[in-house]
Parts: sequence; C-alpha cells; structure tokens
Amino acid sequence: MIMAKDSHGVLNMRLKELHLSAMRECWPQEADLARKESLTYEQYLFELTERECEARKHARIARLLRESRLPLEKGMETFDRKRLSTKLNAHIDVLIEGSFLGRAENVLAFGNPGSGKTHLLCAIALELVQKGRTVLFTPCSLLVQDLLVAKRELTLSKTLKKLARFDAIIIDDIGYVQQSRVEMEVLFTLLADRYERGTVMLTSNLPFSKWEQIFKDPMTTAAAIDRLVHHSIMLELNLPSYRLEKSKQKINEEKIEENKP
Ligand code: ADP
Ligand code: MG
Repeated sequence: MIMAKDSHGVLNMRLKELHLSAMRECWPQEADLARKESLTYEQYLFELTERECEARKHARIARLLRESRLPLEKGMETFDRKRLSTKLNAHIDVLIEGSFLGRAENVLAFGNPGSGKTHLLCAIALELVQKGRTVLFTPCSLLVQDLLVAKRELTLSKTLKKLARFDAIIIDDIGYVQQSRVEMEVLFTLLADRYERGTVMLTSNLPFSKWEQIFKDPMTTAAAIDRLVHHSIMLELNLPSYRLEKSKQKINEEKIEENKP
C-alpha cells in the first residue's frame, strides 16, 4: 500500500485522536531516518513508541514537580553533603531509593536553625519526584491554616483524602510558630490520618522534650510523638548554621585579602 499525500493528514488526525502527540511530532523525521538507516518495521515502531513514552514521563514529572510546591533550587546538586557524617550520608542514600514510602515510614529531621534540615528534606524529595513519586511540601503554619479553613467549611475529610494521595507530605518547621489548641488539633488529626498509611517528613528546631509547647497537653503530645516515631528514620543535624559558617568564611577571606602585600 502506497500512502497518498493526504493520508499523512489523516494519520496526523488519528494520532491526535489517540493522544499520541509525541509520535505525531516525530514520525516524519523518524521515517526518513528509518529509510536512511534501513531500519526494520519493528525498529521504527519501537523508536516511535519510545519517543512517546519519554515525552509522557517528562510531562508527568513536570506536573508532579509543580504540584509538589517544592523549592526547585534546594536540590542535591546544591547541597554540600560533606558537612554531614558518614552515617547520615548513608541514610540519605537509602532514602533517595524511596522504598520507605511504600512502608509509610516517616522521616524526622531535627537540628538548630540553619543546619540544613529544610534543604536536605527538599533535596531528597526532589530526587523522589524524579522517580515518579508524589510529594507535597508545605510550611507547617500554612498547612494548619488550610486544615482549619477546611474544618470550618466542613470539608476536612475531603481535604485529608486529597492529602492522602501524596506518597509523602513534608511539614516544614513544626513548632516554629506558636499555635493555638484548635490549630494543633487539626494537625493531630492529619498525623493520625496518615499513621501507617502515608509518609510524613518533618523538620523541627524543637526536640521531642519540648513538644508539649506545640501540642499543648501531655496526652496529645505523647500520642503525636508515638505515631510519628513508630515507623521512622531520624536525621539529627547537629551542625553549625550553614549561613553563619559561610559568612564567617567570607569575612576571613576578606581579611586575608586585606593583609596581602
Ligand atoms: P534549617 O531548615 O535547618 O533552618 P535550611 O535548610 O533552611 O536550614 O538552610 C539554611 C540555608 O543554608 C539555606 O539557604 C540552605 O540552602 C543553606 N544550606 C544549609 N545546609 C547546606 C548544605 N549542606 N549545603 C548547601 N547549602 C546548605
Ligand atoms: Mg527550615
């Protein structure tokens, strides 16, 4: 069968109808290439489907990145892992593989301000998104506000269901802003809802011993910690502030520069 000229148009329309837009884009060049390199029919079809699959994977990851609300500049490539201990680095290697998500394990990052907790969790999460996993990054205070609004509008269970679709939720800076009892109640509801069902990754400047400041009463505090810790990986970043260290380094470099003859 020889393809008539206008059958090219029909072919394009069919590919559009079948939502095979990458194949539609590339089939003419690929056909020229196939003729030039004497590819078999199978090889040609293989190339076309490969291009379609690649394009879809790309689009999906771009969508997951958008939906994750992760700060894209906080990736592994800008994170200095040499600051961390060998043990911590080993933990990171395991986390990047992503199997903890399937077990709904939590990742709890503690350390003083500026030690790199937020950057580290974001960097891990960005790697996971590249692998096709779904993540949501949210500052704790914003999450609490969203949950409160949902509760007021009687849509809390719907909101929790939406959040349950994510493999992991990063709750950044729990306990940083002092919150009221009702605010903490909704946060507790979320933690209880995700327990053994979905990963929570969180950062905090406060050690557990001070979490009563967050959850207000001893019972809720104990219950929250218990659920978080049960299946968890703890990352202790007992490091000096990265920002402080960098600015000190800069001052020292300037001094050396000044003292040069
Ligand atoms: P924390 O959440 O512990 O307060 P951040 O993750 O916000 O700290 O880090 C503070 C700043 O220092 C950010 O701009 C972050 O990108 C940078 N930073 C921290 N640790 C590192 C690191 N190991 N490598 C590169 N940048 C870092
Ligand atoms: Mg932080």
